[in-house]
Amino acid sequence: ELDRINEFRDRSALSADGVRVTLRANIGLISDVAIALRNGAEGVGLYRTEFPYMTRNTFPDRQDQYLLYRKIVESFAGAPVTIRTLDIGGDKALPYFKPPEEDNPFMGWRSVRVSLDNPDIFRTQIEAILMASHHGPVKLLFPMISGIEELRACKQVVTEAKANLCQQGHPFADDIPLGVMIEVPSAVQLCAFLAREVDFFALGTNDLIQYMLAADRNNPLVNKYYNPLHPAVVQAIHQVCSCARQQGKGICICGEMATDPLHFLLLLGLGIREFSIVAPFIPRIKALLADIDSGQAAETAEQVLLMSDSSAIRTQLSSLLERMR
Ligand code: PEP
Ligand code: MG
Repeated sequence: ELDRINEFRDRSALSADGVRVTLRANIGLISDVAIALRNGAEGVGLYRTEFPYMTRNTFPDRQDQYLLYRKIVESFAGAPVTIRTLDIGGDKALPYFKPPEEDNPFMGWRSVRVSLDNPDIFRTQIEAILMASHHGPVKLLFPMISGIEELRACKQVVTEAKANLCQQGHPFADDIPLGVMIEVPSAVQLCAFLAREVDFFALGTNDLIQYMLAADRNNPLVNKYYNPLHPAVVQAIHQVCSCARQQGKGICICGEMATDPLHFLLLLGLGIREFSIVAPFIPRIKALLADIDSGQAAETAEQVLLMSDSSAIRTQLSSLLERMR
């Protein structure tokens, strides 16, 4: 089995019926780059920039961030790198930037909320990302967006960052694609409005599942409630996927759920064609994909969308997977 998986390392990702899928890497540390390249990642669907911030004693300045982002962009030689702005808070703290004690950190001052309340830090990071965009295809991604106002506020900072770089004579890609993570239930509800004002969506199922089902993603006591096959989650993914398709916007799924074969089958059936996962899973997902007929996956997804309980959904997907392998 391992030999078979290894064979897929350098092949393109195709389903049994010839549908092309894009498999990108989720990265955090610079060491993830080599792992991504070795596993045949087609660029980066999610670069979690908080990791380089976490391993230091102070906020990195613009030049440091620029050099780091540039190095990553150049490593992928023309494949896109999606850089997400700082996503601290929740379970991710910086040693030199302690958020106040909060009763509910995951529902508190985290992620883009921290960035918007610290415009200097935010603009510095966006300028560094823009500067890196001069060296290869970069996409700019905002996390934890819960409504249109935050998106507009973020875009305003991008406008200011661009103006500042122009004034200083730094080149950047003026047409850099902008996207939002869909990971808060309100963003699912508003996806049609959000789609009009962005170039792409990144579906963050790790958070989306915990917020939709009110089940902490890190709490083993409620693990059974944290269910990627919950019908409400399936409906939400379907809604976002259809909306992106209708409005001709990109959509990439970058939650961990895509690495599970059953979940992958469902996501493919729902029409997702771009996945970003931890790189060592890429050859395995390619091998799985080669066994999947996308038409049958789509039919099964349609049936699953009519189901009201997750065990029925699981049974339906399992039986298809059995038949295909
Ligand atoms: C997510 O929430 O699904 C996601 C990809 O982001 P993170 O795991 O960094 O919160
Ligand atoms: Mg998240």
